[in-house]
Amino acid sequence: MTKLNTTTRTLLIAVLAVVVAAAAYAALNGNAISPVQNTEVAVEVATANAGGDCTSCPYAGTDQCPAAAKPYVDASKCIGCSKCVRVAPEAFEINEQTGKAQIKPAAPPEAIARGAKACPVDAVVR
Ligand code: SF4
Repeated sequence: MTKLNTTTRTLLIAVLAVVVAAAAYAALNGNAISPVQNTEVAVEVATANAGGDCTSCPYAGTDQCPAAAKPYVDASKCIGCSKCVRVAPEAFEINEQTGKAQIKPAAPPEAIARGAKACPVDAVVR
């Protein structure tokens, strides 16, 4: 068997350590869901459950229940026309990443209602 010199052995150990650290990191964080992804999933689930059927929803009864998070803008319906923002800027804004409307934190209910009424595709769920 070939003997490795000290430098080669050190390099091999360093490469092995990096590979093990990367695998451990992937194992620990590979399935993590970012808040943005979570929101997207919640909106999809809310759309799928628009009829009020919670039996198949993985978020039923949890603090991530889309119904409990009302009001929200259904991203699958929103066409990003900004009408809601124009009539109720204190309640709505366009998400620059998605191009869809979203409701601002602590938005006044009357402003949300105004924006919802202006929406041409009925994308605001209340
Ligand atoms: S008015 Fe409706 S479709 Fe237009 S940006 Fe607002 S929520 Fe989206």
